[in-house]
Amino acid sequence: MDELKLDILKTRTGKSAQHSPEDSDTEKFRASISTVDDRGKRIWIYPKKPSGVYHKARIGVTVLLLGVFFAGPFVRIGGQPLLLLNVFERKFIIAGQAFWPQDFVLLAITLITFFVFIILFTVVFGRIWCGWMCPQTLFMEMVFRKIEYLIEGDMAAQRRLARAPWSFEKIRKKGLKHAAFLLISVLISHTLMSYILGVEDTLAAVTASPSAHTAGFVGMVGFTAVFYWLFAFFREQACIAVCPYGRLQGVLLGKESIVVAYDWLRGEPRGHLKKKSTTTPEQGDCIDCNLCVQVCPTGIDIRNGTQLECVNCTACIDACDEVMIKIQKPKGLIRFASYNSIRNGVEKVWNGRVTAYSFVLVFLIGVLTFALMTRSDVETTFLKVSGTLYQREPGLITNLYNAEFVNKTFDDVDLQVRVESPSYAELYKVDGKPVVVPAEGMIKSVYFIKLPEDKVTNARSVVRVGIYQDGKKVESVKVKFIGPVRTASDAKR
Ligand code: SF4
Ligand code: SF4
Repeated sequence: MDELKLDILKTRTGKSAQHSPEDSDTEKFRASISTVDDRGKRIWIYPKKPSGVYHKARIGVTVLLLGVFFAGPFVRIGGQPLLLLNVFERKFIIAGQAFWPQDFVLLAITLITFFVFIILFTVVFGRIWCGWMCPQTLFMEMVFRKIEYLIEGDMAAQRRLARAPWSFEKIRKKGLKHAAFLLISVLISHTLMSYILGVEDTLAAVTASPSAHTAGFVGMVGFTAVFYWLFAFFREQACIAVCPYGRLQGVLLGKESIVVAYDWLRGEPRGHLKKKSTTTPEQGDCIDCNLCVQVCPTGIDIRNGTQLECVNCTACIDACDEVMIKIQKPKGLIRFASYNSIRNGVEKVWNGRVTAYSFVLVFLIGVLTFALMTRSDVETTFLKVSGTLYQREPGLITNLYNAEFVNKTFDDVDLQVRVESPSYAELYKVDGKPVVVPAEGMIKSVYFIKLPEDKVTNARSVVRVGIYQDGKKVESVKVKFIGPVRTASDAKR
């Protein structure tokens, strides 16, 4: 039993902390999910239409974020897309910069930095991401749910419609709703495809016959089907049962994390309004109107304390504030607050855990910045031709290499390849042609490196090769050189 529940129980019942699970229905919610009944059947949620200050702010944030999402594929930086994640051709463009699979280390550092940022953000501000920025919640609550309210009406009307036998009106409303859902799913899937294939290829796939772009067509149908199913049927289950971030809340949130919370000290003992629309002196401010539960898109009662299902959408804050205004009590019975701030009356965000995460985050941002600033536009690899060791020529030892040059820029590059050390090493390109790497392309070449036999004292040594563009060094590559194994008598000679 956690402390919050005990506090609620104590304030509700006046009993000590020792309660059996039967003492209160606050115990039941830990052992069940609000969207599944005792027999394991899905309970469909019909949340009441939200309204209020927070909801208006969410509309603003949604318009901004979805605007960026839908406009993104058309935004160009230096003629290149803002974001392109072409996993099929292993071509990635972020903020107009091309990234290759060779930038894997950079990607790994970026991902680690992102995860640490999310952890730090969650430790301090709870699950704000879920309610205000997560695409799943934005589309579900601010797009699909709004269409549902528009066509089927508010909570009660939706319930009535669901229970009503099939009639022309029911078919019309359900048909219209699902047609609109399908249309938006098509729009989302095409936008997503534009981030993967690029706008031009997506347009080509859309305008050509399906047989000409089978993969693109199958992809779009697949994405559309997944989005339609997700928003029309699966809904809040994605947050409750699937989302890994949601499952991590138990370990990320602490008593000082700011979350959507019910002020149980002020609200309990709850009770209905008595005469003249007011509470009795021994009563808390919660009038048990249940509005905070009715608006909740995940079907929970936030008065039971912080729960895994809560996506911090703030609908319950708006609903409760409206009630408090009506009964002339201060707003904020449900508000953004930490457990400790409600219990002790002091909001303290900074603690040891936050300090530790902040240090790690600053360090990672530093490493990432350094890696980005020192990232070269050309990536070269020299690998020994497989199956070869070394060849002997009079007075020389020779190694044969396959070289690969990747051009990460959007222009052709003309490269010069020179030995940097040791000074006596010689490097030859087998075909003798200049190294011209096409824009966003890659070429392969074959090279010989030769060392004087008397200088090869180890079976393995290193030759440094410099890659130059317009006389400026862009990269330095370490190349392994293999020579004969020296015996003791060789060394004496
Ligand atoms: S909306 Fe406010 S007053 Fe009504 S039940 Fe919820 S917490 Fe209590
Ligand atoms: S408890 Fe409140 S903030 Fe959490 S999901 Fe429900 S309505 Fe949204």
